[in-house]
Amino acid sequence: MPETEQFDLIVIGAGPGGYVAAIRGAQLGMKVAIIEQRDQPGGVCLNEGCIPSKALLDSSELYSRAGSQFSQHGIEIPPPRLNLAAMLRRKDGIVKKLGDGISHLFNSHEIQRFIGTARIVAGEPDTPLQVLVETKGQLPLIDPGGVPLQDQEIALQQLQGARILLATGSEATPLPGIPFDGQVVVSAREALSFDTVPQHLIVAGGGYIGLELGSVWKRLGAQVTVMEMLPQILPTMDRQVADTLYRSLRKQGIQFKLGTRITAVRRIGAKAIVQYNAGTGSEEIDCDKVLVAVGRRPNSSESWYDQLGIVRDEKGRVVVNEDYRTSREGMYAIGDLISGPMLAHKASMEAIVCVERIKGQPSLVEYDSIPAVCYTHPEAASVGKTEEQLKAAGIPYIVGRSNYAASGRARCLDESEGFVKILAHATSDRILGVHIIGAHASDLIAEATTVISFGGTARDIALTCHAHPTLSELIREAALDIHHQAIHG
Ligand SMILES: Cc1cc2nc3c(=O)[nH]c(=O)nc-3n(C[C@H](O)[C@H](O)[C@H](O)COP(=O)(O)OP(=O)(O)OC[C@H]3O[C@@H](n4cnc5c(N)ncnc54)[C@H](O)[C@@H]3O)c2cc1C
Repeated sequence: MPETEQFDLIVIGAGPGGYVAAIRGAQLGMKVAIIEQRDQPGGVCLNEGCIPSKALLDSSELYSRAGSQFSQHGIEIPPPRLNLAAMLRRKDGIVKKLGDGISHLFNSHEIQRFIGTARIVAGEPDTPLQVLVETKGQLPLIDPGGVPLQDQEIALQQLQGARILLATGSEATPLPGIPFDGQVVVSAREALSFDTVPQHLIVAGGGYIGLELGSVWKRLGAQVTVMEMLPQILPTMDRQVADTLYRSLRKQGIQFKLGTRITAVRRIGAKAIVQYNAGTGSEEIDCDKVLVAVGRRPNSSESWYDQLGIVRDEKGRVVVNEDYRTSREGMYAIGDLISGPMLAHKASMEAIVCVERIKGQPSLVEYDSIPAVCYTHPEAASVGKTEEQLKAAGIPYIVGRSNYAASGRARCLDESEGFVKILAHATSDRILGVHIIGAHASDLIAEATTVISFGGTARDIALTCHAHPTLSELIREAALDIHHQAIHG
């Protein structure tokens, strides 16, 4: 084994948590190593999550619009024809380009990158922790698209770090007693790369991953049935937003079975029979794919977690304090591996704050203002408290609302479905939550996030001039509505 290399910071996992931490560490003058078992950095987010799903959502939306909406704009085109292989190639190309970009950033920040699986070994008491990397080859300074990995030797390397940051993320949770088989019973990873459009796709789970990927395949021609155990979809979102989205997706042809528990899946060749119970006894439905999107669990089950005594909660999430320190001296954890919403931007914010705190800088994640988005059509986005949460907490609030139908820009875009809902404190006027359903909700939520982060009020938004004609005027109109001053309400 070669001599042990010493680092100020060793990051395990190069997702949006890990790679951002590595770059911030290097910016702050640390000697940083990052270890990632995938050939390409970016984690779940880039390789099988946020980015490929949005690439397919955008392509499939264009396809469905070309078939139905172009003629309303006076654009007559022959009926569109799907070239799925080209659509998947485009998605893969985007992922590859962004992955190369991250590799380039590692290079330019002189971060040593190791491609391999990391495991930590406890040495003698009071000796630094050793990280073993089963690696396909050390690439000290990555040349994007450089040496082909398969030509390199598998080797075990040993690193030593003053601090180790765990950013190993999460994986899809299977249905109880129904393991993934990678072909018929699949996770999002496979559902982002089906090489033919399924005839009937059953989606287990009415959360954002299931609804986004269900939308993609519905638009491309599949029959899609979403089965959800709870009586509603998107349980963490504002109820009015979730209910509006439910009606809209049903109108688009997605079928829903709410309050339904999948009990078994029987494979018959390339097909499957799904057994479920909707409260009236066992029923069956056949399909050719089952996408299981019922949640994700942290990657914290490797034996070295136990050997090192790293404390985890009942869901397997690593327990950390406000500095992101684990129970083991010198070790930190962020992202999907710890508690909180499993979102890429949350992981990245924690990465920056964790590393800055290691360097003694004051830094904080504002957990009350982390936006969440469901990239269906219409999009649903929210930040802060929901009406249900405010009611439960007994906090007095006022609701302001504006409708897309009253927006000139929304009309020009043919996007008159949806609304903006602002919840402001009844006496202080401080914005407590903003919930949007409609076109470009994912972008509109940024203004609300900024105002909430700064402790701003509905009046602050109302007094701010918004460009006309834009969808952002809907935010101002909703803020004006809090004080019964909406112009177009
Ligand atoms: C289909 C889908 C769509 C999504 N869409 C969105 C979205 O639109 N917006 C959003 O905010 N979030 C989205 N997410 C969630 C988002 O991807 C995650 O919250 C985010 O990736 C978490 O980042 P992370 O850095 O904590 O972990 P990850 O991205 O999971 O990265 C962890 C990395 O660690 C590596 N690793 C694990 N163990 C080891 C080891 N022992 N040695 C070396 N490497 C290891 C893994 O290979 C992985 O690459 C989506 C997820 C999915 C599945």
